[in-house]
Amino acid sequence: MLIHTFRLPADLVPHPRFGATVSQSGHRVSHEEIVKSSWRHGGFLATVFPESAMRADISRQKDSVIPLQYYVDRLVTCRECARPFLFFAREQQHWYEELGFTLDADCVRCPECRKARHRIRRRFQRFSDLIGKDDRSDAELSTLVEDAVFLSRAGILRDEQKLRRLKNLALARIPEEPATREILGRLGEISGRAPTDPDGAEIPAAGPSVSTRPEIDVLALTWEPTYEMWYRNTRDMLDTGISPGQIRAQFSILTQHSGLGGDFGRMASQVREAVEDALAGRPIRDTPPP
Ligand SMILES: [Zn+2]
Repeated sequence: MLIHTFRLPADLVPHPRFGATVSQSGHRVSHEEIVKSSWRHGGFLATVFPESAMRADISRQKDSVIPLQYYVDRLVTCRECARPFLFFAREQQHWYEELGFTLDADCVRCPECRKARHRIRRRFQRFSDLIGKDDRSDAELSTLVEDAVFLSRAGILRDEQKLRRLKNLALARIPEEPATREILGRLGEISGRAPTDPDGAEIPAAGPSVSTRPEIDVLALTWEPTYEMWYRNTRDMLDTGISPGQIRAQFSILTQHSGLGGDFGRMASQVREAVEDALAGRPIRDTPPP
């Protein structure tokens, strides 16, 4: 029996509910069984804690061609802030059995970065609701402008024309509100100079907008496969007898977008590279392609 002596890193980001210690499920599951069950999320390379193993109810897993038999606390490095955190077995159960996430959904961000992302999504939702509204009150316009500035700084709202139209509306209707100063300031940042002109008329257009489809960027935020994950998935699908044609067909919705710019396009080309590398039997790349 493997005796687990791994010491958790001191800078581990705590989970608001589960804290920063490995859970003890009381189950006795062999390390080998755990590794077999965790192929989707790092396989042999992952740092897992067998003492936390929980048996999965595979009938509740959404994508159960190759089900996960166990959930187990796993040490992960946050993609965003590079700090370590635990993706807890209980969280995995919640994701894959309660929330209906597919097993391809992996946890790549620490609890703090996830919270920041949720904030972005909430503001994007409010922004989307308000921008489509015909009879906005002044207070709503102010909220809308603040959300637009926030989303622009977060790199989500990249349609500069949209910002400019909002700025004009704000100047006409709520010139005294802080939101109006904020959007003038933001447009100044984008164009690379201070917003000296109070009516904003002289602020020139910035370089080309990367994406005018913020909804696609939000999609990329909510679902983030990695090169390595798709590579391993493809190899596992091959191993279970799924043909290359079927595999390509399954990924075609994504890979056909690999020419697009922005986060979504980058993600789609990662998927395409991973699938093609795995199908051709090329070794896994050390780093994801750009
Ligand atoms: Zn983080």
